Amino acid sequence: MNKLINMSLGLICTALVQTANASEQQQPNILFVFSDDHATHSISAYGSKINQTPNIDKLASEGMLFRNAFATNSICGPSRAVILTGKHSHMNGFMNNEWGGDFDGSQQTFPKLLQKAGYQTSLIGKWHLYSTPTGFDHWEILPGQGRYYNPRFKSETGTVEVTGYTTDVITDRALDWLDKRDKNKPFMLMYQHKAPHREWAPGPDHIDKYKGIEIPEPATLYDDHKGRAASLSPDLEMSISHFLTKADLKLEPPAYLNEAQAANWNRAYAAENKAYFENKPQGIARTKWRYQRYIKDYLRSVDSIDDNLGRVMAYLKENNLEENTIVIYSSDQGFFLGDHGWFDKRWMYEDSINMPLIVKWPNNIQPGSENTDLVQNLDFAQTFLDIAGVNAPSDMQGKSLVPLMKERQEQQAQKSRETQPFRDAIYYHFYENPGWAFVPRHYGVRTDRYKLIHFYKLGTWEFYDLKNDPDELNNLIADASQSAHIAQLKKRLTQLRSEYQVPAEDPEPTLMERFKFWMMHKGLSSQLED
Ligand code: CA
Repeated sequence: MNKLINMSLGLICTALVQTANASEQQQPNILFVFSDDHATHSISAYGSKINQTPNIDKLASEGMLFRNAFATNSICGPSRAVILTGKHSHMNGFMNNEWGGDFDGSQQTFPKLLQKAGYQTSLIGKWHLYSTPTGFDHWEILPGQGRYYNPRFKSETGTVEVTGYTTDVITDRALDWLDKRDKNKPFMLMYQHKAPHREWAPGPDHIDKYKGIEIPEPATLYDDHKGRAASLSPDLEMSISHFLTKADLKLEPPAYLNEAQAANWNRAYAAENKAYFENKPQGIARTKWRYQRYIKDYLRSVDSIDDNLGRVMAYLKENNLEENTIVIYSSDQGFFLGDHGWFDKRWMYEDSINMPLIVKWPNNIQPGSENTDLVQNLDFAQTFLDIAGVNAPSDMQGKSLVPLMKERQEQQAQKSRETQPFRDAIYYHFYENPGWAFVPRHYGVRTDRYKLIHFYKLGTWEFYDLKNDPDELNNLIADASQSAHIAQLKKRLTQLRSEYQVPAEDPEPTLMERFKFWMMHKGLSSQLED
């Protein structure tokens, strides 16, 4: 009798273990493809008028494209910290790139929680949070910003230098890790490019692309910033007409190229550079020349990201991973592509805060669907946990996007956003001043139609009706006809600051941090092309 009971128990236990294993294997893999400073208006799936991105477009045609995804704080490190923690900058502590300390890796992050849930976690490429990565079974990162050719990778075993173009090399290493991983576990891979970050150095495959072609200029390239904070910021350093360095403009080759790479580089730029130095354009012609040089190199950098996404997708297919892998394409923020006369980001204006977000999830997401809800990088951690079937900790501040992903397109169209929006308003806060470009500190609120921004150090406000003024050229803060909307947004802004527990006072850099920044800034200023 006892023997029989033992045998039955044994069978039940075996069955339970088998069920557990089966459910473990069913947890989908998560492949997070992340670039740096890739604006939606340089992705054809988002309607770019200046380039084509066939592989990103294919991902969109097989998945869902989020039109209204926004960064909470539009710079590299802070956006990454928000993604890892699911918390606003003031809660995760990484508020600025240039001062205020390293990312505190001892805190809770979604990779750590996925690890606990049985995932194998890996990080390959750009990190930019200074502290040693935590929560990853495997990591190899570019030190600091990294470089565009012959990158160095730092890992637990030391630093190696690899010959090649960084976007290609990061992909090689990501695919290599996928080959070597423990195939009994689901994986979460953060595959993170440096490109198309400044200084937009093209790879050998695209260095000659767009030659002899004129890329259309954005409508606001010659914006005078009248009535807006930029006109009150004499220190601002982000205009294409004045603040590009010799390296940005490819007027001198980078020091990190080897002999063969340098020869190809010099061949590619030689004729145009010779013509430039012989007859330096002035005034508007100078801005036009610089815009063309800048945007072409930016788009060439994007081209390599797109090619490499194609390589990764082919790998998933060849290795039977396509069905059970969720692929996300995103970037840490947007970027000004000559819009308002600028390169760079930081401002709460649309081009800067709008992030690409495209998700392919076979059998869950309707191929070729679109979402227009207000979502943020703040939501990514909870989304990844939800995908893995892990309950999100209550101190995370975002919302899982999984319910939105599972909506059919017709449900999207039918649901009433007026009465039950996924999110009625987003909160934004930029702190890094002093910092590169000297954008004034500001916070604000954006709904599906309106935006209110408080430049609290300048003591000014801006209000935009995005439906009638999508380029944000007309600050309506003093327009009496808008006073009811402005009052409503001011109230919502106060509520959001309270809900997210935003402190009344900002931290300030120490004297040493100010000095270090001043030294770095002095170095960059000496590199400007005049
Ligand atoms: Ca960035």
